[in-house]
Amino acid sequence: MLYKEDVNNTVKITKGFKYRIYPTESQKQMMEQTFGNVRFVYNHFLNMRSEEWKNDHKSICYNKTSSLLTDLKKEEECSWLNLSDSMALQESLRDLDRAFQNFFKKNNDYPVFHSKHEKQSYRTRNQNNSIRIEGNRLILPKIGKVKIKLSRDIKGRILNATISRTKTGKYYVSLCCEYKEDIKINNGGAIGIDVGLKEFYTDSNGTVVDNPKYLANYDKKLLKEQKKLSRMIEMNIDHYTSNRVPVYKKPLSECKNIQKQRVKLARIHEKISDCRSDLLHKASTTLVKENQIIAVEDLNVKGMIRNHKLARSINDVSWSEFHRLLECKAKEYDSVFIKVPRFYASSQTCHVCGYKNALVKDLRIRKWTCPVCGSHHDRDHNAAINILNEALKMLDSV
Ligand SMILES: [Zn+2]
Repeated sequence: MLYKEDVNNTVKITKGFKYRIYPTESQKQMMEQTFGNVRFVYNHFLNMRSEEWKNDHKSICYNKTSSLLTDLKKEEECSWLNLSDSMALQESLRDLDRAFQNFFKKNNDYPVFHSKHEKQSYRTRNQNNSIRIEGNRLILPKIGKVKIKLSRDIKGRILNATISRTKTGKYYVSLCCEYKEDIKINNGGAIGIDVGLKEFYTDSNGTVVDNPKYLANYDKKLLKEQKKLSRMIEMNIDHYTSNRVPVYKKPLSECKNIQKQRVKLARIHEKISDCRSDLLHKASTTLVKENQIIAVEDLNVKGMIRNHKLARSINDVSWSEFHRLLECKAKEYDSVFIKVPRFYASSQTCHVCGYKNALVKDLRIRKWTCPVCGSHHDRDHNAAINILNEALKMLDSV
């Protein structure tokens, strides 16, 4: 979601609407061709840009790759590139360019090649109404009319469409739309949020919001099925080469039970991600409705994920996604979403007197007493109050 504020108390909102689609066999084939083609284009130009970077430390810009793509499509051995939606190929180049820009700005690691084993998707742009809804059909460039389940109303003008296939073989479209909406009124509160590992978060009012139990149950199930899959693969190993690469009795793609198990695992992954996104949406909506000011700590989630002991839980609560949703929704309700810099010692500082207690660095300490003013603190509640206070200070100084 993206927003632009307006003078007339309205906001311009850019939001994705996701629907399940049911392509016919021939439409599926066309989509597969496009998934493959956008992947080819992405990888081909990633390789080219990498070589250029390595050899001359020069960066090829988007426009250059775009004109090189036009040349490539004229070559006979690449004529199959013309079979797919040309806009999708251009969008793939834009994605690649964005990946490089993010790398240059040090927001991301160096771009990596796309694999056919990941979730497949492509994005295409609406030009002269080339993407539209007609009854219960979605019109897509090159594909034609696709059956769509309109599970909710679409709003505004369609900017682009992302078509995707999950590992379990379901097809979806996310329609990115632009529309104007009146700014809603929030209830005027101010809240600091300390996201946790065990709990989802603790706020400055002392409310603890737990991670739902069903997520933990799915995790257990996931672990069990993952073990099953590893056993199946192990059983199929004939021997190892001298550098410990397994040689299989039968190629894995031909083992029906292994393929079935992989789909089973992917289904559990899908369930988990659906539940998680539901939780994040509900929690963020409640927070922006209730509060004028919402303060969080700007966590370096990427840095923390590298420390893999914490990785699973951090991934599970998906903090960065939570922040993104809060930031977007805050604008709808005219609330202020503010990130407090992460070097700010929110857990260690007594919110009453400001004394910094270095002993509290130890994550195992859940409760502590301030040696200076004698206040008793719950670690996370104290942190949430500090985050809010720091945010208020930042707002004051603007
Ligand atoms: Zn104190």
